[in-house]
Amino acid sequence: MALRTLDTLPDRVGGSLAGTRVIVRCDLNVPLKDGVITDDGRVRASLPTLKSLIDQGARLVVCSHLGRPAGAPDPKYSLKPVAERLSELLGTPVAFAADTVGASAHEVVDGLGDGDVAVIENLRFNPGETSKDEVERDAFARELATLGDALVSDGFGVVHRKQASVYDLAQILPSVAGLLIATEVDVLDRLTENPERPYTVVLGGSKVSDKLGVIAHLLPRVDKLLVGGGMMFTFLAAQGHKVGASLLEQDQLDTVRGYMETARERGIELVLPVDAVVAASFAADADHVVADADALEDTAFGASGLGLDIGPRTAEVFAEAIRSSTTVFWNGPMGVFEMPAFAAGTKTVAQALTEVTGLSVVGGGDSAAAVRQLGFSDDSFGHISTGGGASLEFLEGKKLPGLEVLGWEQ
Ligand code: ADP
Ligand code: MG
Repeated sequence: MALRTLDTLPDRVGGSLAGTRVIVRCDLNVPLKDGVITDDGRVRASLPTLKSLIDQGARLVVCSHLGRPAGAPDPKYSLKPVAERLSELLGTPVAFAADTVGASAHEVVDGLGDGDVAVIENLRFNPGETSKDEVERDAFARELATLGDALVSDGFGVVHRKQASVYDLAQILPSVAGLLIATEVDVLDRLTENPERPYTVVLGGSKVSDKLGVIAHLLPRVDKLLVGGGMMFTFLAAQGHKVGASLLEQDQLDTVRGYMETARERGIELVLPVDAVVAASFAADADHVVADADALEDTAFGASGLGLDIGPRTAEVFAEAIRSSTTVFWNGPMGVFEMPAFAAGTKTVAQALTEVTGLSVVGGGDSAAAVRQLGFSDDSFGHISTGGGASLEFLEGKKLPGLEVLGWEQ
């Protein structure tokens, strides 16, 4: 079954959204420093859905979680600054309720006119939101349901969680996916079902063990798999190379050998680094040299050298493979990009993705942060997935409760 989409909502509530109270579950979990939003990307990402609903005369009750409060009100995690930012971005007043389902929320919602917007306080101030106990969760969802006539679910970052506003509420009220979720699902689905070929997946980041599910699910679907980042050393070690003091997961060696075997059997090109940047220590100003993948311990640092980036020859090989592909998915930085001396591989790979003429997708929290930190604009890529954990679980082929409840079947 397909995802229930926003354009079908009027029919589900009797023909028109005018005068209808619509609860919009967003992911407005922005980073805050001393009450100031340091990156409003998630607020901006929620705008298309909100504007569409406003234009149709709906009365909007926007809700979200923020941070990890311990199931009780905590001013540190108030959504108030987010409501203010939303008001600036929409260019209209946004009412704010000082609680989630209490007197303030009801008063604010009762005061909404057609096309008006209210934000209610952080959902996680109530323990029912994230409770593992279905009864407790359902009770909170039922309280939320008294604030609206329909639900638009648009917080893609939380669809892998069985939480009251994401899962239970969607079964109580007429519910559809918002535009952000619809886009994410469309793009991620194109990476798993019938991608346009050649299809290349680039994986990096710190650990193989974090990405086992993604590798296992995507490997049989790709033409090329490029491996960089910290996880490359477990692959190089599986090939029989010495990797010095680089990140190595001994307990994953057999699993990685299994991937190599699968790739061989199916004619998938598994491309491993031919060189790496090896450093004397894990520090921004550490001495470093480029070494061949089969000579990582033959530098002046001997067996204590640490591989902190792919080398320049590898970066070129990866860039060429990326540029000559029609579909590319990239997750995980190629090196310790947080330190400029070890950011070159990540930058070359990011640059190559911007040159892909087909679909290029960046997924993963640190990967998205890396491309922004390196000065690339979001729209130079086909799509930057906002999901983090949710995107990875989708690509692992897992069932996501917050999507299934909106009609999606993988
Ligand atoms: P994402 O959040 O995009 O899924 P990960 O969380 O898997 O990415 O990995 C990001 C981290 O991997 C970064 O903090 C980066 O410094 C680290 N990393 C990349 N290459 C190496 C390496 N060679 N050694 C140690 N850490 C690395
Ligand atoms: Mg990460």
